[in-house]
Amino acid sequence: MLPQHCSRYPHSPPARPIEFPLRGRALPKDTMNSAAGTLAYTRLRNTLAEHPRTWLITGVAGFIGSNILEDLLTLGQSVIGLDNFSTGHQANLDQVLSLPAASKGRFRLFRGDIRDLNACRKACKGADYVLHHAALGSVPRSIQDPLISNSVNVDGFLNVVLASKEMGVKSVVYASSCAVYGDSPELPLKEDSTGQLLSPYAATKLANEIYAAVFQRTYGLPLVGLRYFNIFGPRQDPNGDYAAVIPRWIAKLLNGESCDIHGDGETSRDFCYVDNVTQANLLAATAVPSLGGAEVYNVAAGRETTLNELFRMIRLGLVGYQPSIAASHPVYGPFREGDIRRSAADISRIQLQLDYEPTHTTAQGLGQALEWYVEHSQKSAAPAEERAIAAVR
Ligand code: NAD
Repeated sequence: MLPQHCSRYPHSPPARPIEFPLRGRALPKDTMNSAAGTLAYTRLRNTLAEHPRTWLITGVAGFIGSNILEDLLTLGQSVIGLDNFSTGHQANLDQVLSLPAASKGRFRLFRGDIRDLNACRKACKGADYVLHHAALGSVPRSIQDPLISNSVNVDGFLNVVLASKEMGVKSVVYASSCAVYGDSPELPLKEDSTGQLLSPYAATKLANEIYAAVFQRTYGLPLVGLRYFNIFGPRQDPNGDYAAVIPRWIAKLLNGESCDIHGDGETSRDFCYVDNVTQANLLAATAVPSLGGAEVYNVAAGRETTLNELFRMIRLGLVGYQPSIAASHPVYGPFREGDIRRSAADISRIQLQLDYEPTHTTAQGLGQALEWYVEHSQKSAAPAEERAIAAVR
């Protein structure tokens, strides 16, 4: 249910009151983005809207890539996408491109593989900024087949960075992961603390960070790594790793099924809404590069949420749509072997150095995500059974 990365931590987090989501009544995405966040982020968005840039998003058909695409097009930017559709979906792109707000920008798609240097060169041509998100994100898959994870996540990374250098892009922002903290017991997790890595996937992400520092030092190419915690939001694949527990539970509750929790429900994660990730990417890409090695930053909500809290928030958020959900309770099962107990990020470095401020708390993000999932489950096939299958695939 939850990723087997980040730290093992023996104690439960302190109890505290639950923050409730804005059930289906959150501000529209545009308003939320421009009204919240730091002044620096608002200024950056205004500048970009006035002086549009060209961005390459690798992994554009995936969950995070398609959300960044939506935001950049809405801001009137030109976007080049590169994807081989191995875990991403054309439907994600179709959905973004059908939004009236997205018509403000321009989009060009390259179907290609980041393991092909020439494909990377073609895609990088003309890009001001590169937001590298193509990767194989599955931890279990990396354990089963470390060679393919390495070839996509490390060789592919090197191709994207080399092509970026050759094509003279201004900066590269790449998706790292909290998996690089391994079994570090220190909470909240700070960028300088490290533990023992727990999967080949984690090793590929740390390799990216090492190469990024070398590339910046050797070639002067500005690179920024963003260590994502448990990201959630629209278009997340319910069968994916990470925070896929959120779309899975939403689908189950909407279909009258029960939700499983491994253990006592006091396992925690730092669940971060995807708009905060977009913010971090825009700030990082346009930041003045540091003089030393490449920087890495935690990207998270900066708040620990237990599975019990998460379940209650989702249930409360859905009751307005389907009152019978109020009676739902999770089904507790045995702890899953290898599941880490607690995870939470210290986000002070990115706040201080990049002026990042989450526009959405976990609860506000859930409010937005629930609205999207409800709307999309209603749009899909009418018979309940079919809907259930579609929602959890
Ligand atoms: P995703 O699987 O939805 O998106 C990845 C995209 O990359 C997909 O569209 C896929 O088709 C594409 N891709 C994969 N291999 C490719 C290749 N060889 N060539 C071209 N395209 C390829 O995953 P996501 O959740 O959007 O994650 C995006 C990035 O963020 C990944 O690097 C992932 O490791 C990282 N990350 C995500 C989370 C999270 O919570 N979602 C947490 C930590 C790190």
